[in-house]
Amino acid sequence: MKAAVVREKNDGFVDLIDDWQPRALGFGDALVDVEYCGLCHTDLHCASGDFGDPNTLGERNGNFRRVIGHEGVGIVSKLGEGADDYLKVGDRVSIAWFYGACGVCDYCVSGNETFCRKVRNSGYTVDGAMAQQVVVDAKYAVKVPAGLDPVEASSITCAGVTMYKSLKVGETKPGQWVSVHGAGGLGNLAVQYAHNVFGAHVVVIDGNPDKLEAAKENGAEVLINRKQPGIDVAAEIQKATGGVNNAQVTAVNDAAFKQAVDSLRPMGKLVAVALPQGDMSLNIVKTVLDGIEVRGSLVGTRGDLKEAFQFGAEGKVHPIVEKADFNDLNDVIQEMKNGSITGRKVFDFTHM
Ligand SMILES: [Zn+2]
Ligand SMILES: [Zn+2]
Repeated sequence: MKAAVVREKNDGFVDLIDDWQPRALGFGDALVDVEYCGLCHTDLHCASGDFGDPNTLGERNGNFRRVIGHEGVGIVSKLGEGADDYLKVGDRVSIAWFYGACGVCDYCVSGNETFCRKVRNSGYTVDGAMAQQVVVDAKYAVKVPAGLDPVEASSITCAGVTMYKSLKVGETKPGQWVSVHGAGGLGNLAVQYAHNVFGAHVVVIDGNPDKLEAAKENGAEVLINRKQPGIDVAAEIQKATGGVNNAQVTAVNDAAFKQAVDSLRPMGKLVAVALPQGDMSLNIVKTVLDGIEVRGSLVGTRGDLKEAFQFGAEGKVHPIVEKADFNDLNDVIQEMKNGSITGRKVFDFTHM
């Protein structure tokens, strides 16, 4: 079985192996034949050991090295004992970063299961979907609705649900202004959900004219190229919108966080989504006098994913996706490190 596993030296790339075997099915597990799996920045963090060495964390399951991948979509091919209460053979399901949780703690029972202290994450503490087969916990695998293209679904599994959720965390309402800082894989979906689902006005900030153009096509009304000489990004946003109600930070540069705070109107909310290393600076006077709120947002629950998928199935959201060959995975990792990918590269396991 082909799989992409984290290297022992955690150098940010993966080894493509042929002899990988998924673990045996336990109670409530299901085996999924993977169709597509997208590559995400979080996979790069995992392969680089930024969150600890995935080869030594979490469930070992007899496999020596961790399979990456958490933007997977595939077809259920076998059910473990007890799994037929939730899935049947032939169902199309997703394999998301949120793989499963304890189900009984305060976070799990209050609709905040992604913050469970016993959370399991695909491609990090359990084997992920960048393989021909993957084992899922049937209770936690969210079904992909009919009418949603599985390649697009792979991207909604992570980037889509992440932005759908963070717009909820920002309490986005119809007619409000939202700023999206960074128009890459996450930012593009933020624009689409904000405009097409939440009915908000959108201003987008990026340094790449192609990405800005793509955002415009998806409904962004104000475009700001942060690399324009002499530009004051926050002042431009304030001038165009009167200050935004919430700012979604998907860019991995520190400057974006400051620009986002300064672009808010009083009582505005900054929602941090991207994960640059280090700290963000926050002007205390503005925070107090303007009643600014800063919130972090992490992927989404099963309920969020179900909703995010449904909007995709209704045609309100179309991730920018491009199929890629599994054998080119390390080249695509290099492209992602260079920041030269617009949208998502999705690896095709249907022709192997
Ligand atoms: Zn991801
Ligand atoms: Zn829990």
